[in-house]
Parts: sequence; structure tokens; C-alpha cells
Amino acid sequence: MSLNIQHLESEIIDQYLYDENTTRPWIIGFSGGKDSTMLLQVVWNALKKIEPILLTRKIYVVCNDTLVENPRIVKFIYTTLKKIQKAANLNDFPLIVEQTIPRIDDSFWVRLVGLGYPAPNRIHRWCTERLKINPTSRLIKEKINENGEAIILLGTRSAESTNRAASIKKHERKGERLRNHQFPRAFVYAPIKDVETNEVWQYLNQVPPPWGGTHKELVTLYRNANAGDCPLVIDNTTPSCGQSRFGCWVCTVVNKDKSMEGLIGNGEDWMLPLAEIRNFLIETRDSPDKYRQKERRDGSYHIDKWGPYNFETRVDILTRILKAQKEVQKTEDIELITHQEMVLIQYYWFRDMYFKPKVSDIYNKIFKTKIDMSKQEEKIKEESELLRKSCKDEPKDVELIQDLLALQKTKTLMMRKRGLLDDFENRLEQFIEESKK
Ligand code: SF4
Repeated sequence: MSLNIQHLESEIIDQYLYDENTTRPWIIGFSGGKDSTMLLQVVWNALKKIEPILLTRKIYVVCNDTLVENPRIVKFIYTTLKKIQKAANLNDFPLIVEQTIPRIDDSFWVRLVGLGYPAPNRIHRWCTERLKINPTSRLIKEKINENGEAIILLGTRSAESTNRAASIKKHERKGERLRNHQFPRAFVYAPIKDVETNEVWQYLNQVPPPWGGTHKELVTLYRNANAGDCPLVIDNTTPSCGQSRFGCWVCTVVNKDKSMEGLIGNGEDWMLPLAEIRNFLIETRDSPDKYRQKERRDGSYHIDKWGPYNFETRVDILTRILKAQKEVQKTEDIELITHQEMVLIQYYWFRDMYFKPKVSDIYNKIFKTKIDMSKQEEKIKEESELLRKSCKDEPKDVELIQDLLALQKTKTLMMRKRGLLDDFENRLEQFIEESKK
């Protein structure tokens, strides 16, 4: 192998041991792709060479799930993460796997079907921040608050793209391995930045992962999916995820989803209903006159701008998702949309005064069930109407109070109230900012 692994490992050991602050944790961004797999593996193998007593720093392996990742890839990543944590525990290696997901009110389906956000395109790419950057940023901030500082290790490589090379160069400090991150008290370290793509493959083909098994499945997935990497996106300087192939299966920022096409072409036929939904989303993106309303969410009209999806389109998309879910579940244990997302979608439909059909009507029709959400639905409906009446002189307050209620409800549903105060404060700050305009 032309790549000097010993040199790379020595650099990592150096950075670990001779850092000015040896308590700041390492946060390794892991997307399950080839680059971050190599990064984790090289770091693990390097640190194995240090006396265990010196391994005092916490090492977090952070993986984000947008909840609309390609289900085939998700399965593979979840299995890998389990293996990583198990092997770390067995070997007393101080590594903790942390998985992040978007807040439910930021979920792709809640925004798109609940609020009518149009399928994203290059200009209006509302998803990356909500699905990828924010969940990871929250975790990084949490770790910085706990430990004072943190070092983020990324598998970014100069060879991967010219944009990436420019971004790495821009943030690099001459002669230093660490570069500043946009968060105060966070630094970025990219140990494999000079590794060439063919060297990554050589390494993965020759060196088995320290968490056991081989990289055969990873290599096959790349081959079958004609895929490129979707790096862990931690901020706006990270290369655009919409350009990648191992991204969300709903992604309409790219015109063709080569990975999904590749996987279907290689026998994963169960993904066909997903490809159909994605094609429909592209159609809605390209024909706003047919699928969107003229009035924008704030009630304004712009001659050359379109508002959110009209109610018929939102119903149509939800129907397609649930039909696809039913079809896919004949052979796969996969959920395309969660119950919590559906409850929140219903909440937003009532908030927009759309009462029929209800989410439960659509669900029951497709799955031939009799799920009764009427109590929840009636409560939400009554609440919406009462609020509207009591705030008739301050209509802006209605939206704010409903957002706060929605946040409270979703946190309860998710059984995770952690961060609720932050969410409230953020929403209140946003309201104050909007009121100043
Ligand atoms: S992969 Fe596509 S849909 Fe997913 S966050 Fe990136 S741009 Fe948005």
C-alpha cells in the first residue's frame, strides 16, 4: 500500500497525547460511508497502541439519521454501529456511539406534508439544516458544555472534490493539525485529508475493521449503488449533501438518485414504490401551478412566487407514503413515516383549518384498520378554534402559541422532554425577531 499508515497512526497518537488540553473529548463524525469508516478504523487502531491508562479522553462516534435515509443503507449503518459499540465495550475501549435525529417538528414529512413545504431544490434547500446540521450541532454543543471544549474528527479528504479541498484549505491554520470550527471552543481535525480515493479502498480491502467482520458489505453497497459518500454534515462549510449519492431517499436536490436506481437495478425491487414517490415529489417541485397555492403561509401574495403545497397535494403525498409503506412492509421491516409524525401532521392540518380528510381516515382506508385518533383530533381541533377566538386581535400570537403547544406535545410523544426549554426559548426568540421586522 502506497499509503503510509504507520505515519498516519503516529500523527493521531501525537494529537491525542500531546494536546494542550487532554480532557477535551474527540467527536468522530460517522456516516457509514467509506471515508468515515476509514477514519474511525485508523483512529481506533492508532489508539490501541497507547497504554490503556493513558486513554482518558472520551471518544464519541456520532451518526445522524435524517429519518428519510435510504432504508437499505440505514439497516447496514445500524448493524455497524451496534458492532462498534459491542466491540468497544468488550475491549474496554472508551468509545460511545451517539445517534442523532431531527426534532420531530423539523422532520421531512412534518414540514412537507404537515406544513406544505415544497420538495427542496438547489435554491430552496430547507432540509439540510433541519435534518442534518441542527441535530449534530445540538450534540456537539452539549458535549462542549459538558467538557469546556471538543475536537471534531471528520473524514473529509482534499481528493474527494475541489469544493472540499477549498473548504479544508480555507479553514486550515498553517502548520497545525487543528482548524477552528464555527462553534466557539470546537476544533476540527481531519486526519485523512491527504488520502487519495484509491488508497481508501485499498486500505478498506486490506485491513479488517477492529469491530469485527470485513468491509465486504460496504464495498458491495458502493458497487451496487454506484455511490459517492454522504459525509456527516456539521455546518454550512461541509460539502453539500444534496450532491451525494448516499443521501435521503426523498432527495429532490439531485435530479437522479443514482444509488436508489443502482440498488433497484441490482435486485432491490422493493424500493420501487419509494422511487415512485420521489419521482412524484420531483413533479410537484417542477409544476408549482398544479400543486401549490398562491397564498403564502403568512397570508401574502407575490406575483412570481408560490406558497406551500395546497391541501389536496399534502393529502395525495401522505396517501402515497402510506400505500408505499404497506407495499414495502410485505417483505421489509421498514417504516417510512412514524405515528408521531402523523399526529403532528394532523395538528398542522387543523391549525391550517383543514378538517377533511383526517390523517386517521387516510391511514384506516389504506391499512383497513380502525385506528381511532378522534379524541386526540377533537382536542387539537377544539384547542385551535379556542385559541383563534381568544387571539382574534393578535393573530400572530395564535401561531406562536400553537408552535409552543406542538413542541410540548411532540416532546411528550417522543418521551424526551430534554431540550424542551431550549426549543421554547428558540421559538420565542424567533417570534421576538419576527415582531421587530
Ligand atoms: S440529502 Fe437531499 S433531502 Fe437529504 S438533507 Fe441533503 S439535500 Fe436535503
